[in-house]
Order: sequence, then C-alpha cells, then structure tokens
Amino acid sequence: MSKKIRTRFAPSPTGYLHVGSLRTAFYNYLFAKHNNGDFILRIENTDKSRYVEGSIENLVKILDFMGLQYSEGIVTDKDEKISQKGNFGPYIQSKRLEIYKKYVDELIKNDYAYFCFCSQERLDEMRKDQQARKLAPMYDGKCRGLDKKEVQELLNKKTPFVVRLKVPNDDFTEFDDLVYGKIRIANKTTDDQVLMKSDGYPTYHLANVVDDHLMEISHVIRGEEWLPSTPKHILLYKAFGWEAPKFAHLPLLLNPDKSKLSKRQGDVAVEDFLNQGYLPEALLNFVLLLGWNPKTEEEIFSFEEMIKRFDLSGVNKAGSIFNTEKLDWINRNYIRKMDPDELTKLCVPYLIETKLIKEVSSIKYQILSTAEEINFDYLKKVVALEQERMKKLSEIGESVKFIFIDKPDYEKELLIWKKMTAEKAKNNLELTYQELEKLDEKDWTKNNLEEVLRKLMEREGIKTGELLWPLRVALTGLKGSPGPFEVGEVLGKEKVLRRIEKGIELLK
Ligand code: GLU
Repeated sequence: MSKKIRTRFAPSPTGYLHVGSLRTAFYNYLFAKHNNGDFILRIENTDKSRYVEGSIENLVKILDFMGLQYSEGIVTDKDEKISQKGNFGPYIQSKRLEIYKKYVDELIKNDYAYFCFCSQERLDEMRKDQQARKLAPMYDGKCRGLDKKEVQELLNKKTPFVVRLKVPNDDFTEFDDLVYGKIRIANKTTDDQVLMKSDGYPTYHLANVVDDHLMEISHVIRGEEWLPSTPKHILLYKAFGWEAPKFAHLPLLLNPDKSKLSKRQGDVAVEDFLNQGYLPEALLNFVLLLGWNPKTEEEIFSFEEMIKRFDLSGVNKAGSIFNTEKLDWINRNYIRKMDPDELTKLCVPYLIETKLIKEVSSIKYQILSTAEEINFDYLKKVVALEQERMKKLSEIGESVKFIFIDKPDYEKELLIWKKMTAEKAKNNLELTYQELEKLDEKDWTKNNLEEVLRKLMEREGIKTGELLWPLRVALTGLKGSPGPFEVGEVLGKEKVLRRIEKGIELLK
C-alpha cells in the first residue's frame, strides 16, 4: 500500500500573508485533496526576532476565510485563543524544543553534527575576508577538527556554542524535484549549516526536517527560494536514516518588469486584495494559474474543479508574472455569476465606507445626502446596475455615487450628443419630461420607460442617441454609466423628473 499523501503549509508568523504564500498553501491544499490526503498547518516560529504579534491569529483567520480547511494544525477558538487539532502535534515549533534537542544530540553522537564555538567577531571577519576575495560566504570548518576533550573543556567553561551540520567534503547530493527535475549539488559548495543556535532554538533547517519526518509529510511543496536549501535537508534525512519526502518547488512570482514580487511595487498581502474587494474564490483561481497550466483554454474553475484537475505535473518552472489585469478579469467573471443578494451584502460596507449611505438597522439604510430611508431591496437594484461591469467590490461606491447624491454635477456640454445643437438637446429633454410625467408611478419600470420613450422617438422622428444621451447624462452626470432605463427605474419618477429639469435649466 502506498503511503498516505500528507502535505503541509508551514508559514513563519512574520506579519501579513503574502499572495505567494497563499499560492503555496493552495497548491498544498489542492494536492492533498486531489489525492484524498491530509493538509496540515504548521507554524514555523523558530526565528524569534522576526515574530510579529497577532500574525498566527491572522493567518488562521485568512485561511479559514479563503476556505482552505486543514485537518491538523494550529486553530483558534471563538476568542481567538490559539489551540491545535491532530495527532502529530505540537504544530507550533516553539513548543517542540525538547524534540529538536533530542535529535541534535543524536546527530552529534553519530558525528553528523558538531559544536562550533566561534565568536560572532570571528565569523564576521571571516565573512568580510571571503567577500573581499569574492568567495561565497561559508563557514571555514575551524571547529570541525576539535577533539572530544577540547569540546568538553569549552562546554565546561560555558563557552557559547552553536551546532553545525557536518557536510561531507566530497561527493554530491542529489534529489528529484517534481517540478525542476534532477538536482545535483557538490557537497563542497554546501555550508556547514547551523542546526541549533546558541539560545537553544533550532534553525529552520533542522526543525523543518525533523517535523516533516515526524508529521509523516509525504510531499513538500514550497517556493523556489527553498530549492538551494534542499540539499542540506537531504543530508539531514540521510544522517537520521530517514526516507526524505518528495519535493516540489514552485516558480517565483514576478512583477511585470520581471523583478521579484515585492511590497514595494504594490499590494502583496492577501488581506489587501480582500479589502479591495477581490472575492476569495477569484483570488484562489488567480493564484492557481500563477505557475500551474491547466492544459486547456479554460481559465475559470469552480473550487471542486480546481481540486479535480490539479496535478504537480502541470506546475511550470519559469517564474510567473503577477498580472493584476488578469486578476481583475477573473474577479469580474466571479462577480457576474454571483447571487444578487450575496453581492449586495458584500457591497454594503463599501457604500458605507464611501459615505453614501449609513446603516439604520440590519435592513434599513439612509442616504446620507438626502436623509432618505431606503431598504436592502433598493440597494440590490442599485448594485444590479453595476454587476456586469464591476471588476472589484471597492469600485461600487464611485460607480453608483450618482444614484445617492442629491443632484449630479456636470458640464452642460456633456448633455449634447455628437453634432446635435444645445437647443435640440433641450427640446428633447423637454419632450422626455412631458412623456414621463404622464407615466404613473406604479408603472415605473425600466421596460415601460423604454416603451414610452421608443414610441416618442418614433412619433417625433428623433434619433436614439439624440434622445437617450441627453437623458442619460441628465440622470447620471456621467460620460459612461448604465443605460437610462435601468437608471431611471432605480431613481424613481420624482428624482428622474427633477434631474431632467436640471438638465433643461442648464441648456437654457
Ligand atoms: N517557514 C518556511 C516559510 O515561511 C517554510 C518553508 C518550507 O515550506 O519548507 O517559507
């Protein structure tokens, strides 16, 4: 029987969740789910200096919000208190120090690791010297040769020490990466990596290998930046006599100018994208395509389809450009397919934030500029105006502002369509006014508005643009907007007539 597939996402709690890490988490999730395996969340917090308060809680919250459920790992309860679930814990490295200590001792005993007593000054000097000689920075092995007695004396004197991996001086380390293929590195280019720091904390390398083994991880799927560390990990697996998991490294994410995706060039935190109103599923669909080729023309996938189709053989080697336009396009596709009720619920906070409305109760709102009360159904109609066009939820405020302001402000020239005269535009608005005034409020629907105005154009021989352009501008004050019938229905009779009046006034 083949081993159960177990993957893990192993972030360090150093602040926000980078979209690149979201991709790593998602690929691990998809690979596990596709193979009926387990997906685990492990927190790698061995670097105390990089810990940012609140980041574990935040991570858990975001993974949950994104729908990336894991069967084991760190969780939080109702009050955001950190706890854990699963049989392979603790799932947070700072709670596993005893375990690492035991394994480091074993490595030392078997001569795969050694104590290093070099001072920071010595190491700094060595590094400077190597830099000056244009050599790769590497430990020179001074303490490798200490005999047992010397080591014991230094330990007795309480000399601070670290523990280093004793990398063989000859031979090569090889492994098959599921994305990058065969990797072969000469051991003499691999540094005697520190495994345990002077404060008794393990380094990432040791903790990572010990945990992946003890947690029975079958596949390590992680960013390409860890590829150069993998030979050290393979050496550790060998030293322990353990079978190494399979490795798959994921291509770098790049800015459009091919530089590494970083905060300097724009948003990279998952939270920032969510705040802008990218939907979680759209964001996942987008990161899926950053480095994975579905081998079809399709680009929009449901969550189930993503699980069904994902395989590591579709992961590219070349770096993937992070293209925000593509993200917008995908998000727009998801918004179009959304249930109007759901979409409206998500848009309400943005309408409040743009100071267009305020919440009165859970179903009642007030338009701030006019103090008029409206309900959720009304907001639904407003949002429906933009459902087809919206790229992200945060756009809703700006694009439907014209509905909520008392009367839109615009230049009178905007009312004039192409080559028509101002006089004609005014006349057409007057005719429209007279016609719409006759339409009863209970019949005030977009279909009826359309029917009445089409008849008017036929009767008077007016070109469509010459009637509907001035009307649309009078209603919205905008060069581009949804059509006048839809807008007219949402605004209602009274507002429509008042806005037409204003247009007529402007043209006088
Ligand atoms: N803690 C590492 C990180 O934050 C995990 C790397 C790995 O998956 O091995 O990227």
